[in-house]
Amino acid sequence: MSRQEVLVIGPIMPFVVERLKQHHDVVELENEADNAEFLAREGGRFRAVAVGRLGLTGKSIAAMPKLEIVASFGVGYDAVDVAAAAKAGVVVTHTPGVLTEEVADTALALMLMTVRELNAAERHLREGRWKSEGHYRLSHGSLNGAVLGIVGLGRIGKAIAKRAEACGMKIHYHGRHRQADVAYPYHETAVDLARAADVLMVVAPGGAETRHLIDTEVLKAIGPDGYLINIGRGTVVDEPALTAALEKGVIRGAGLDVFDDEPNVPDALLALHDTVLLPHVGSASVATRQAMGQLVVDNICAWLDDKPPLTPVPETPVPERS
Ligand code: NAP
Repeated sequence: MSRQEVLVIGPIMPFVVERLKQHHDVVELENEADNAEFLAREGGRFRAVAVGRLGLTGKSIAAMPKLEIVASFGVGYDAVDVAAAAKAGVVVTHTPGVLTEEVADTALALMLMTVRELNAAERHLREGRWKSEGHYRLSHGSLNGAVLGIVGLGRIGKAIAKRAEACGMKIHYHGRHRQADVAYPYHETAVDLARAADVLMVVAPGGAETRHLIDTEVLKAIGPDGYLINIGRGTVVDEPALTAALEKGVIRGAGLDVFDDEPNVPDALLALHDTVLLPHVGSASVATRQAMGQLVVDNICAWLDDKPPLTPVPETPVPERS
């Protein structure tokens, strides 16, 4: 494989840059403000780009006429304009599979923290209230015997279902399709699923199609004894509607790992002390993030070595390669 130029549009894990440099000549773009100017001037040089959470716009793709592959860090690729990539004949890859179990573990932990109020109970101890006021209150919810409604029963959704079943939960799900290979009850709409569920777990992808899928109506259907957990994408939940539902007791609680405008978590959500808020740490362990980074590198190296990409997204067709 001959050394070629690879553009890395950050921020991205330094591991990706280090590994790419072993095989290719890396040009790093760290400063968003400079990107457009740089791409207008130099974009024509690059066949391969690696991108982090900021993704890649259609405009940037158009500024790179020789572009062939965009390797995106993460399984969700809603920040990459895949329609523009497909139109330009550019292959987009992502990092499915290698993070599934880690994210499912985080989702289970977030659900337990939320339903059993474990973070609030810990605060009770740390603030000296166990001594001064006595025991922390009993949690209203339990996992055992409860129905977990999963919105997006894909790789991660199924791994969460397996863990939740081990906790004695019953699984229901909603997606665009009924799945022939699972026996869990299927619900045609998110509202129907929310009605059946004690805990609604969102693990669907972001993007225009799922924007605000969890709205006021779905929140009402979860009900005053129910919980919402979001480990998918912040955009899937109508955040102001969720905040209002929590303030008014329309639902009992929520656990969120993802937000509409990260890292800007609204003050109104921060003020709700019984809501569990995590800073998008679903896949955030060294081993899992390195596996994701390695897959970004492997996709780019395979492509520049005239081999097929390892993990292309379904929206961008891959031309025949040996
Ligand atoms: P996946 O295997 O593609 O599963 C996605 C599931 O969502 C599928 O079952 C799909 O079922 C369903 N879905 C897609 N569009 C939908 C829609 N419009 N309405 C309802 N359901 C829909 O993906 P995955 O690997 O499990 O990852 C899922 C998502 O988790 C990612 O896209 C990412 O946003 C998120 N994620 C978050 C973290 C984190 O750190 N918090 C980490 C990794 C991933 P149908 O095709 O039947 O609709």
